[in-house]
Amino acid sequence: MAFTQAEQALIREDIFRWLDELQLAGQYDFSREDLSKYTWRGQSIRLVDPQGGIWNPRDFDTTLSILTTPNGPYDDKPEDGMFVRYAYAKAEKGTNTKLKRAFVTQEPLIYFAPSTRSNRYVAHYPVYVSQDDEENREVVVALDAQFKLFADPLQLGADEREWAERTVMARVHQPLFRAKVMTAYEETCAICSLRHKQLLDAAHIIPDSHERGVALVTNGISLCKIHHAAYDGNFIGISPDYKVVVNSELLLEVDGPMLKHGIQEMHGRTLVLPKKENEWPERENLAFRFETFAA
Ligand SMILES: [Zn+2]
Repeated sequence: MAFTQAEQALIREDIFRWLDELQLAGQYDFSREDLSKYTWRGQSIRLVDPQGGIWNPRDFDTTLSILTTPNGPYDDKPEDGMFVRYAYAKAEKGTNTKLKRAFVTQEPLIYFAPSTRSNRYVAHYPVYVSQDDEENREVVVALDAQFKLFADPLQLGADEREWAERTVMARVHQPLFRAKVMTAYEETCAICSLRHKQLLDAAHIIPDSHERGVALVTNGISLCKIHHAAYDGNFIGISPDYKVVVNSELLLEVDGPMLKHGIQEMHGRTLVLPKKENEWPERENLAFRFETFAA
């Protein structure tokens, strides 16, 4: 039985919550099988098509998700990292009707982009169809709800673009950044070697609010929650030659086992680095950040 409009809105919100929960539990990318496990009041609802890209559950009036496969038959182009141009399905047969309707109703949907691991996807949600380009047979999808604030998201003024880059882009980049860092470091804290992805963060070396704080794996380090906070708070520094340095005053402090074993004993350790050297932290980034720590 088809869901009412109100139910559909509730289910979408609940799906976003479900994805949030999985990510809080450490999951950073999803297989099609993972995305078939969602249930609403006992009823199973797939979040992606078993094979294709545009997913229109029968009981929904508009598209629920779109997915880009690497090397797929469609050329889904990311535009400035803020938008994705997503092609209509080649065979018309109604598949595009619900996608076009998502533009009219501005219902939120999910965009699944290829992860670093094959056959897995990172999730962007809620995203919105911000343009229906019938001439080129594609839609333009805004990767963040904030873009709806712009009168014409495709024609941003310099001020709007700067604001978007400073505030929104970090969030847009986060899912793939986390996947890149987690796979490069094999889900291990680079300082203490803890291996529980639920307790790990993809930390930025140069903060993402900074213009040099790009979301590349070479500006990232996998750190457990405590070492991430200690690094961001300059209790711990990482030198350009990949050595862990603990703040000198903190080294002399006497406290419980967390300070002793968790922080002081990390002083002088060498960072646990990714297997591939081209994924190691950029020395220039470490040096730039280390200056802040040393000051
Ligand atoms: Zn750690």
